[in-house]
Amino acid sequence: MRYRRIPDETIRRLPVYLRALMEVSDSGQENISSGKLAGFLGIAPYLIRKDFSYFGGFGTRGKGYEVGALIKQICKILKLDVPNKAVLVGVGNLGRALLAYPGFRAFGFEIAALFDAASDKISKKINDLVVKSVSDLADIKEQGIRIAIITVPGKAAQQITDELIDAGIKSILNFAPCHINVPKRVKVVTINIAMDLAVLPYYMSKK
Ligand code: NAD
Repeated sequence: MRYRRIPDETIRRLPVYLRALMEVSDSGQENISSGKLAGFLGIAPYLIRKDFSYFGGFGTRGKGYEVGALIKQICKILKLDVPNKAVLVGVGNLGRALLAYPGFRAFGFEIAALFDAASDKISKKINDLVVKSVSDLADIKEQGIRIAIITVPGKAAQQITDELIDAGIKSILNFAPCHINVPKRVKVVTINIAMDLAVLPYYMSKK
């Protein structure tokens, strides 16, 4: 099936729908209305209907959306219908916390390679993976890894980014607290919990 061009804001909501639909499916429910899904997620029903209309998920009046079919469609659009391997660079506190998180697997992600620069971390085993030296980063090319997670200090982030791109990385989830420069063809998502937290006092003061 060919999909209409899907706007970025819809793409950003697709993982939210996917997680909710997986939960609904696990509970044994086969159909769900946009109204019920809206209540579950705190998203307006019209927005859900509009988002699903981009890929033809119109649902059936009175019956709602077919949960299994929607999960399949969303996975296909997000390209989660094939396993995705990722490399993690920086096996410190945050890196290890991410490695201990089981939630990546639900979306088909596998952290398949670990790198660090510290001699006391290199060659250590975590989750059955041996931590390799960053000087061997080019190895990921042969492993067919195209996604990277960066959990190194800010001052090391740009250099690691450049080396990852040279090694064939196409998308980066960046946790370092800085902007990283990449060519247009590479997608970066930067996550900064402190910056998300920084807006909360403003909203509290408005109440
Ligand atoms: P940490 O010091 O525990 O871990 C950093 C790791 O990176 C260490 O293992 C270190 O040896 C390794 N490292 C340093 N330079 C390297 C290089 N050039 N190549 C490869 N590995 C290198 O720090 P942490 O608490 O795990 O934080 C890691 C990063 O994540 C920092 O940039 C921190 O600011 C950031 N952070 C972001 C968030 C967020 O919300 N985005 C939250 C916590 C931490």
